[in-house]
Amino acid sequence: MVSVLKEIKPFAYGFVATICAAVLIICLIGVVSLVNSPVEYPETDSLAPELAIIGDSHITIRAGDVYEDPGATVYDADNPTAIIPILASGEVDTNTPGDYIISYSATDDADNTTLASRVVTVLPRSTGVIYLTFDDGPSPYTAELLDVLAKYNVKATFFVTAAGSDEMLVREYNEGHAIGLHSCTHNYAQIYTSVDNFFADLYCVQNRVKNATGYTSYLMRFPGGSSNLVSASYDGGTHIMSTLTREVEARGFTYFDWNVTSGDAGGTTTADGVYYNVINRVYSDGKSVVLQHDIKAFSVAAVERIIQWGLANGFTFDKLTADSFTAHHGVNN
Ligand SMILES: [Zn+2]
Repeated sequence: MVSVLKEIKPFAYGFVATICAAVLIICLIGVVSLVNSPVEYPETDSLAPELAIIGDSHITIRAGDVYEDPGATVYDADNPTAIIPILASGEVDTNTPGDYIISYSATDDADNTTLASRVVTVLPRSTGVIYLTFDDGPSPYTAELLDVLAKYNVKATFFVTAAGSDEMLVREYNEGHAIGLHSCTHNYAQIYTSVDNFFADLYCVQNRVKNATGYTSYLMRFPGGSSNLVSASYDGGTHIMSTLTREVEARGFTYFDWNVTSGDAGGTTTADGVYYNVINRVYSDGKSVVLQHDIKAFSVAAVERIIQWGLANGFTFDKLTADSFTAHHGVNN
């Protein structure tokens, strides 16, 4: 028996080893087949999700602006109720001009991925200069206007008349604003009848300013601007604006027109309207001479927001001088 047992033992070891090897091979086959076989998903989830960016695919901002990405939306037609996360990557350095790309990615449960992107262009801050100018005052609203200008340390230009108080003229002058001459009478039928009439009126307002402030101004703005045609109704066909524009310069004056209208002398009758006209019309990287009237309360009421907007967008505010941009319209009469 003993000898038999001895003979059986090697056989038993061989049997156990064979079973183990077989099990190992079966296991390996199983693992390999699991690795190689494609993961089975329902055939209904074969479409990639639809990824749509919200807003424009190219957004332009100015350096210093705040950028908030509008994001994107995702929809999977195969599985409309699925909640699919959208991964967004990329950064916008709002202080450094350049092009930036925001990338979006959405992957459904079946590993179908859709990509989208948006370009954000950061432009340099505005280099524009805004010359705020106010005609026809001083008026009861001028004090409020001066308070706003002082609050932001913005200097403006007043083309004044014979109206309003000398006290306001003195304030304008003492607070560092430019005082230009507009007209004593602002009566087209009088001033555009003859060259002599025109200069009598101009020297009238020059004297008014000098008497109030001690300052002799040689900055001026024609009533109606240098391009006005209303003068043709009164000048007897002499093309008086052609003469006056030459003659004021010959007498040492500098005349200014404007290249941005606030609309406050025409169809615009609200502070909102004036504000949007001005901010939409100023030249981002150029010089803007803005025409407003400080005899209009709603126009004065728009000034603080115009200044806030301009400063936030990189504009500089300045007053006109004899060496400034003149915004000449061109003479039509
Ligand atoms: Zn005027």
